Amino acid sequence: MSDTDKKEMTRREVLTTGGAALAGLAAASTVAGQGTQAGEAGQRNAAGRLAGRVAIITGAARGIGRATAVRFAREGADVVLIDIARNIPSAPYPLATPEDLAETERLVRAENRRALAVRADVREMSQMRQATERAIRELGKVDILFANAGIATMNSPLVSITDPQWRDVLEVNLFGVANAMRAVLPHMVERKSGVIVANSSVGGRMGTPGVPNYGAAKWGIIGLVKSVALEVGKSNVRVNAVCPTFIDTELTWQGTSLPGQPRPTRAEIEQVARQFHGLDVGVLPPEDVAAAVLFLVSDEGRFLTGEVIDVAAGSNARWQA
Ligand code: NAP
Repeated sequence: MSDTDKKEMTRREVLTTGGAALAGLAAASTVAGQGTQAGEAGQRNAAGRLAGRVAIITGAARGIGRATAVRFAREGADVVLIDIARNIPSAPYPLATPEDLAETERLVRAENRRALAVRADVREMSQMRQATERAIRELGKVDILFANAGIATMNSPLVSITDPQWRDVLEVNLFGVANAMRAVLPHMVERKSGVIVANSSVGGRMGTPGVPNYGAAKWGIIGLVKSVALEVGKSNVRVNAVCPTFIDTELTWQGTSLPGQPRPTRAEIEQVARQFHGLDVGVLPPEDVAAAVLFLVSDEGRFLTGEVIDVAAGSNARWQA
């Protein structure tokens, strides 16, 4: 058994048993998708569900963005990897680095697909346009956008939230999604072909005290997605959202707020997640979000638009219809 296989097995065990060895989770998640031989990957992705497609992913340096980039590549897509790859001061945890972005690029190439890493800030419309133009110039077209980049601030109730906490979360998590969509949509509408998935959250389906900025942005994404789906549907462009629950990423481990508490430990987050879920599982692997995104962007999802898919382990069974 290779080291990668051992790490993957360890990570699965941790996720199913919960609680124990939580420290191993983040380290193991950074190797997700590694270890595939280029030859095998070439054979597999030639017949993959995204063979011949070009996808843009924002927030691709790590976490859900990285897992989705690797999955898309494994299914035959070339991938444009956009990430700011530097800290944003109001996010109280270290954000991704240029090395993280380079690692995602390496993982996509290991799947025998083209990868184009672009350091850009989703808050800047001009940077999103330039990245899209570069993707079209160098990879020929854009078929898919996964608008995923996001940040969280810790315990910031509206009465005490700072201006940067309010503004940065709205600007990255909502305006950033709209900017990425606005950058690719003219090209997709002109080609009469394209599919967009935005990353909302279970925080976009319910109120969450302590993070009104995050909640406002994530609810906003759903309104945006449903409105734009109707605007561009007759042009054969589909627009959907996913709403993940607690996922094994730095945003969860370092950006989760529990009302009235200082920064929670991993064990506390794992316990809260398990209680929150209908299934007997705690924090979920990012690859499970990638699987839902893949379904939405693949031809199997061809009649799904304006749709919101919860990847929420049954916590979503509490939502109103
Ligand atoms: P993550 O590991 O922190 O990844 C987020 C990525 O977004 C980072 O690589 C980050 O790069 C990038 N990013 C942040 N601001 C950016 C900007 N202005 N421009 C370009 N890139 C930017 O967290 P994650 O959990 O994978 O989060 C991905 C998405 O899933 C977010 O929208 C998040 O809200 C959503 N989500 C996560 C969970 C969860 O439990 N983890 C649950 C529901 C929804 P830098 O780090 O360099 O800024």
